[in-house]
Amino acid sequence: MAITHNLGFPRIGKKRELKLALESYWKNNISSKKLFEHGQQIRLQNWQAQNSLDYTPVGDFSYYDHVLDMSFLLGNVPQRASQLNDKTIDQYFRIARGRSSQDSHATCVHAGEMTKWFDTNYHYIVPEVTQDTQFSLNPKNLLDQIKQAKQHKINAKPIIIGPVTYLWLSKEKDNSNKLTLLERLIPVYQQLLQTLAEQNIDWVQIDEPILVTELAQEWQQAFQYAYQALNEYRDKQLTQQTNHLNETSIKILLATYFGELGQNLELACQLPVDGLHLDVSQSNQEALLAIEYLTNDKILSLGVINGRNIWKSDLNHLLNWLDPIAKQLGNKLWIAPSCSLLHVPVDLDSEEKIDLKIKNWLAFAQQKLTEVCILATAINSGKQTVAKQLADNAEAISLRKNSPLVNNPHVQTAVNEITPDLSQRNTTYASRTEKQRKHLKLPQFPTTTIGSFPQTEHIRKTRLKFKKGELNETTYIELIKKEIAQTVQQQEALALDVLVHGEAERNDMVEYFGELLEGFIITQFAWVQSYGSRCVKPPILFGDVSRPTAMTVDWINYAQSLTNNPMKGMLTGPVTILNWSFVRDDQPREKSCKQIALAIREEVKDLESSGIKIIQIDEAALREGLPLKRSAWQTYLNWAIECFRIAANGVKDETQIHTHMCYSEFNDIINAIAQMDADVITIENSRSDMELLNVFDDFNYPNEIGPGVYDIHSPNIPAKEQIVQLMQIVAEKIPIERLWINPDCGLKTRQWEDVIPALKNMVEAAHQLRESFA
Ligand code: GLN
Ligand code: ZN
Repeated sequence: MAITHNLGFPRIGKKRELKLALESYWKNNISSKKLFEHGQQIRLQNWQAQNSLDYTPVGDFSYYDHVLDMSFLLGNVPQRASQLNDKTIDQYFRIARGRSSQDSHATCVHAGEMTKWFDTNYHYIVPEVTQDTQFSLNPKNLLDQIKQAKQHKINAKPIIIGPVTYLWLSKEKDNSNKLTLLERLIPVYQQLLQTLAEQNIDWVQIDEPILVTELAQEWQQAFQYAYQALNEYRDKQLTQQTNHLNETSIKILLATYFGELGQNLELACQLPVDGLHLDVSQSNQEALLAIEYLTNDKILSLGVINGRNIWKSDLNHLLNWLDPIAKQLGNKLWIAPSCSLLHVPVDLDSEEKIDLKIKNWLAFAQQKLTEVCILATAINSGKQTVAKQLADNAEAISLRKNSPLVNNPHVQTAVNEITPDLSQRNTTYASRTEKQRKHLKLPQFPTTTIGSFPQTEHIRKTRLKFKKGELNETTYIELIKKEIAQTVQQQEALALDVLVHGEAERNDMVEYFGELLEGFIITQFAWVQSYGSRCVKPPILFGDVSRPTAMTVDWINYAQSLTNNPMKGMLTGPVTILNWSFVRDDQPREKSCKQIALAIREEVKDLESSGIKIIQIDEAALREGLPLKRSAWQTYLNWAIECFRIAANGVKDETQIHTHMCYSEFNDIINAIAQMDADVITIENSRSDMELLNVFDDFNYPNEIGPGVYDIHSPNIPAKEQIVQLMQIVAEKIPIERLWINPDCGLKTRQWEDVIPALKNMVEAAHQLRESFA
């Protein structure tokens, strides 16, 4: 009998109920009691959605982030929150986002740092540690969830993050070595196992996803140490309990995901746990090796259904592969999605507008669990019991493969015919820059912004009404033009040098292009949690990409017609469009990216021939596409950089190409970034002037650069002196003729009230710098 289970379910709710509840609580519109009721309802809904499984995840639910939950569970709460003698949930939100409900200035604290969860677009709150950190078990939240699950007769499998991964994700606040904390951490995990055993929990899932990265030896040893210690403790418990006949020790399922274990496979197989979960969704070679390495009594959980994409799996193909394994392993075979389903939307059935042909190719969280159950039923009761489901699946897989919607021979030919010259500009930066200077006539320290201006309520309503058909196209265009005109006027009043149109027509920098390019569909409800209450709705890339008509040219030309200053054309780059979409699994990412690159290239050329002199191609998400294994970085960077260059480099020397990136930690990829050869790059400051400067320390960035001098994620207004000072430090590292002055990201989420004084200070700072360097 193969056993079914799941590693985690989306926690935002089918209709983003969690987002609504959280935001109401933060606005003081509901009490914490009410918030918890909403939480309970969402959990119950989720468990009911998973009721066909043998084991249901519990503890995967979170009010903000499961890593922060883990910090609370381990009693590792930063003092700045815990010293305020207040409800735990309010301490929790203060660390999560700086403030909870009802917080006045006095109770706001600085929020914990947020960073991406492995190579996903989910962000977690980084645990903070110092050499003095003490841990203590604080299991109430988890026990409440277990209790609720039991009330509903759920066969609960609690999920926690393992000790080694927890430390690996932490950040030392004092330059100590976090690994030394492991000894102090393990006893708390021992107590936790004990506590769960007392709840009669059968299996606990301990997540150690860092096992798919290339670990240094000390981290591999940490695994040995940690799991040995947990196991010895369990043995001791067992011996003490020999009189209690019913008592059994809790069993540990060690879960790894987001790729193959590679060099850590043997290590993982040898750890003294009761079962191992492998992600075999991309490649299944390790399954057979694991069967060889695992000792007889261990179970093997195979993550056969991809938990990161939105495609139906080829169930017949999987069954052919699974059949002999199932025969060999019997009830020691478990079947599951590859990872938590946190990263996919909840339910395909909610979608009412997707072309039915394409809808038939898709599977969201709910549908993926059905796939797991079909596989198990076929294994346990024979294929004939699910003959219809298997036949439907085979048909869907074949229809997708052969669909004219997917395959566009012109696009495929164009990609095959990409030659190296497509990604080359005619000359080097040094000679281009001279021509650009003559052409653009910009002052020293030119000022600009990153693209978007505040998206007011009015703009959002206008777009929404148009989408719903309540506004006709002519009126809509007029209204957006009005917004553009105001934004241009405002920038002229501020005396910025290079202007933007403000992006009022875009709800999102990727979705906008997804809507206009062939090969993408946009969903209605396919939200995925990005962090806390923030969700994103990635477009689905299903087929060969092409550009039916120009996408931005009219808007940009209109904006240019209103001013004598240069207007920047504003595009999202191919790598970012790729990384922020659900992409195809039937061809390499590289190939999809090249198709997008060719489409963006046409747009760049159209902008240029319409008279636009500066074009910015945002690559906000280039860095996050880096593979988890360092050894795979270069291959990714090679094609990602090539794609950017294909998009950007079809222009004349006089045309200035800008790019923008939302981070400053690119020390380790600065070489690749220089190879993008954009004439100007603007980057995020990431709240740390030091980090920004580190970038320039070892590497001489060869082209022009605009370090973000205005942190747009904060409502604070940067003072003129602060900007001048920062630029003076940068000017020690980079020749001033290559420096630009700009905010560190788009201004979309800000209010005009902050933006105007902040940009005013920025422009004044530029004036002062011009004088002092004259
Ligand atoms: N041009 C985009 C904007 O200004 C860039 C956003 C981003 O980098 N995330 O909004
Ligand atoms: Zn940005």
